[in-house]
Amino acid sequence: MFEILFLGTSASAPSIDRGLSSALVFYRDQRFLIDCGEGTQRQLLRSGLGFRKLDKVLLTHGHLDHILGLGGLVSTFSRWESIPSLTIYGGRWALQRVEDLMKVVLRGGEVNMSIEFVCIRPGIVWEDDTMTISAFPVTHRGPGCFGYLFEQKGHRPFLAEEAERLGVPHGPERRALVQGRSITLADGAIIRPEQVLGQEVKGTRLAHVGDAGRTDNLVEFCRDADALVIEATYASCETEMAIRFGHLTATQAAQLAARANVGHLFLVHLSRRYSAREIAREARRIFPNTNVPRDLDRYRVARGKVARVKEENGP
Ligand SMILES: [Zn+2]
Ligand SMILES: [Zn+2]
Repeated sequence: MFEILFLGTSASAPSIDRGLSSALVFYRDQRFLIDCGEGTQRQLLRSGLGFRKLDKVLLTHGHLDHILGLGGLVSTFSRWESIPSLTIYGGRWALQRVEDLMKVVLRGGEVNMSIEFVCIRPGIVWEDDTMTISAFPVTHRGPGCFGYLFEQKGHRPFLAEEAERLGVPHGPERRALVQGRSITLADGAIIRPEQVLGQEVKGTRLAHVGDAGRTDNLVEFCRDADALVIEATYASCETEMAIRFGHLTATQAAQLAARANVGHLFLVHLSRRYSAREIAREARRIFPNTNVPRDLDRYRVARGKVARVKEENGP
């Protein structure tokens, strides 16, 4: 299960109601900040979550509306003892731009913080025993744009009744079978893991795409995700503009959600010229399970189920 907090959902420039691009994904005790537009640190404070454990940033691309907040965030973090270092993942071009920004931030000497830049390629960029984050290529303006797939590893449930029937004792023998190792019973019978493990249960999948100018090359990466977050900068009445600037319309984003068979669609990165209602209405004609979140909206994404989280304070 994941949670996502939308921190900024406006395109290019902030509006009165919407800040610049940023979202926070929670997984167990880990936090991942995706993009960091100007004003993100204020949004984090408004959310009640603050900066705790915020040591990993995933960048979708290097446009200013997605990275400028990093300067202020690092300036604040350098005075924040509980976050000694920050790791920033992104494509080469995005990282070069952030490195240039950091030169300005670090030049005066009052900011002293360890920043690690991880230049990513398509494939796994972070993992632990139970979850992977994979980067996949996205077509937008400029090179090295990425989307991210958060994927809980699947598991095969232990069939306790079957184990009982086969005479597998409780304790280390069962643990060994769950870990994929065969065991030998006291009477010499060999029990293999597949005898006591059920069909694989897939883990939760959350796909996050930043700015994008095409969707045909995203279908496979988003396939069957429980939730997809993607931009919808324009409505279909301005398809020409969307094409010119390498962005999507709500219609295109909804068509992607339908083709990829995702469970739920979140549309972000709205141009100030549209209301959320217009964008939602257009998308829902094609993909009814669509939300256009407001800043600071928070959702829980589980296998086959997406729900709004009402509490103001974080875990
Ligand atoms: Zn943008
Ligand atoms: Zn962009």
